[in-house]
Amino acid sequence: MIWQRRIQQALEQRKAQHLWRQPHCLQGPQGVIVTRGERRLLNFCSNDYLGLAALGGDALQQAAQQWQFGSGASHLVCGHSQAHEELQRALAAHAGYPRAVLFSTGYMANLGVISALTQRGDTVWQDKLNHASLLDGAQLSRAQLKRYRHNDSDHLQQLLATTDGSGAHLIVSDSIFSMDGNCAELTQLANIAEQHQALLLIDDAHGFGVLGEHGEGARHAFSLSAQQLPLYMGTLGKALGGFGAFVACDHDMADYLTQFARSHIYTTAMPPALAAAMCVQLQRLQQGDLQKQLRTNIAYWRQLADQAGLPLMPSESAIQPLLVGSSERALQLSAALSEQGFWVTAIRPPTVPQHSARLRITLSAAHSHEQIAELVSCLQPLWEQCS
Ligand SMILES: *Cc1c(COP(=O)(O)O)cnc(C)c1O
Repeated sequence: MIWQRRIQQALEQRKAQHLWRQPHCLQGPQGVIVTRGERRLLNFCSNDYLGLAALGGDALQQAAQQWQFGSGASHLVCGHSQAHEELQRALAAHAGYPRAVLFSTGYMANLGVISALTQRGDTVWQDKLNHASLLDGAQLSRAQLKRYRHNDSDHLQQLLATTDGSGAHLIVSDSIFSMDGNCAELTQLANIAEQHQALLLIDDAHGFGVLGEHGEGARHAFSLSAQQLPLYMGTLGKALGGFGAFVACDHDMADYLTQFARSHIYTTAMPPALAAAMCVQLQRLQQGDLQKQLRTNIAYWRQLADQAGLPLMPSESAIQPLLVGSSERALQLSAALSEQGFWVTAIRPPTVPQHSARLRITLSAAHSHEQIAELVSCLQPLWEQCS
């Protein structure tokens, strides 16, 4: 009875607060044009920033001829193959680090790294808007979690100055914030970390593959050294259009994570064919054309949206949200867009703070200027009606 009541109450409350979520089913591959149920929609909400999700299939098929399907075990038992080894080496080289350690997902990488490194008496310092997986990683560790105001390195500096000096400090931030699209003050964070002998972990889920001329990521874009940014997490599910994640670091750190990161150790290694296909995806994005195309699209969107009077947020990234506030209104806008053939998800609490529901519009290198212009002309009257 107690469980039934609890579950029913929680479900009813979700619906009443316009926070109910459900997956929509795609009938074909991910891409700029997708088939959802009976309808074809122009997609403006995926994290497939370079359009690579629809391109890896050939590489996967080819790799499957050599590697077949499953890895059979975790990395440390007998599931680690030459394909994994090569992917780790390629990722480390591209991000500019001596080593990289693979994880099944970014969520697991963040849990694994934070919980492996920190112990009771330590403090994990996190930006208020950090991704859920980073916050969960700190919850899982025995360290104390402290959050500083969003993108306010002065606040972090003040808070650190008041600590008593016992225990180690880990500073953690998204590079590009996933629901806002703005960029963290990485140079300041690196300086603060150095000053307080803190370790710095940067989650570059939305920057790896996108930032830097050839998609080297946030470290490169900010001209920071690998010593200044010693723990770099990147994911393979966004700009690389696949699945998986890695942490790039120096040799000792990689050895340490291999020994102690439980979400790396106690889980099946990704299928080796997937690892091999990810290497091909990485080569595709290293050309640099896709990043250039994406930057052109972002600038084009910002120009048109600004002319149309849409309230842009301070984001130079592919994430270009429109802040709505009310969850109900965000849902209505998303539904109205869908009626007209556009897919833009309404992002609501608890993914974002209370009263800050939004349309999280994302751009891809695969969008044409025409498609971007169509979105703006459809949005403009809808936005005026609702504001
Ligand atoms: C998507 C995301 C993750 C999780 O990565 P997955 O590989 O999808 O599990 C972690 N951090 C940030 C900032 C993200 O946006």
